[in-house]
Amino acid sequence: MKKIGVLTSGGDSPGMNAAVRAVVRAGIYNGLEVVGIKRGYAGLINGEIQNMDLSSVADIIHRGGTILRSARCLEMKEDEGFKKALNVIDIFGIEGIVVIGGDGSMRGAEKLSKAGIATMGLPGTIDNDLAYTDYTIGFKTAVNTVLGAISNIRDTSASHDRVSIIEVMGRHCGDIALYSGIAGGAESIIVPEVEFSVEEICKRLIQSKNRGKRHSIIMLAEGIGNAYDITKEIQEKSGLEARLTTLGHLQRGGSPVAYDRILASRMGERAVKLLMEGKKSRAIGITGTDIRDHDISEALSMKKEINMELYELAKVLSI
Ligand code: ADP
Repeated sequence: MKKIGVLTSGGDSPGMNAAVRAVVRAGIYNGLEVVGIKRGYAGLINGEIQNMDLSSVADIIHRGGTILRSARCLEMKEDEGFKKALNVIDIFGIEGIVVIGGDGSMRGAEKLSKAGIATMGLPGTIDNDLAYTDYTIGFKTAVNTVLGAISNIRDTSASHDRVSIIEVMGRHCGDIALYSGIAGGAESIIVPEVEFSVEEICKRLIQSKNRGKRHSIIMLAEGIGNAYDITKEIQEKSGLEARLTTLGHLQRGGSPVAYDRILASRMGERAVKLLMEGKKSRAIGITGTDIRDHDISEALSMKKEINMELYELAKVLSI
């Protein structure tokens, strides 16, 4: 193996830069030539490729976003676009690719590996929705960002005796809501993986109010459905003033926390090592404290489940 490429794809996440840096530095350390592919699969198809030297990744470990930029690219899913991508890989003499992205990006990586390109997948998404890894790069930073928002919202909701409903990202995965809800002391946490009852939530809100509590925080994962309708229903059924805050893209930004930087660094280095060992199709994750690699197709077939122990803990502590 002489030349490898790295790309970031799909929704960006804090720590992607640390992963790019690790791939470039570990590659060069091991005598490889490393190229950066701009704007994910779109840049691959269009041949937007640049050489990466040691200084190209200087001063980025602490930065959110991705210096390689990211994109969603429908063409990659179609035969014609995919063929173009394979041609570009051939023309540029790229022998191995490291894809940093979420579930969709991993499916693109799987397709590349099935076409015979040595491909490594790194889980770069704030959603923590990939079953084969305990944590994805960017998740812990996003939880901390949400915590900051909870703290600010708590100040104002306490001043107005309000119920604050905070909608967070995660697509079909409730982990951001669950983890930030526990850490932020939320009264209720609504996630797509567990059935919930608005009546039960309202009962708890009324009971807390009767005990003298002046405000409540409810965390809501975006995968649950229409947050505005749920807020309205809670307001109508509880008779309490409820306000919805949708945090949106602010959850994706910011400087990555130490955990994400270290996770990205370890995973990036592992990807290079596996490519040098001649491995073809691996998804890199973390289990406990160990960096582990799995066959990409097997990794993608695993079903992500919510941590019920944490979910129950949240219920006990918000009594
Ligand atoms: P994320 O990686 O954050 O989950 P997306 O689901 O948008 O984001 O996927 C990112 C990109 O991965 C898509 O825009 C597309 O280029 C590529 N992709 C997704 N699914 C496939 C697939 N089945 N085959 C090939 N490429 C795919």
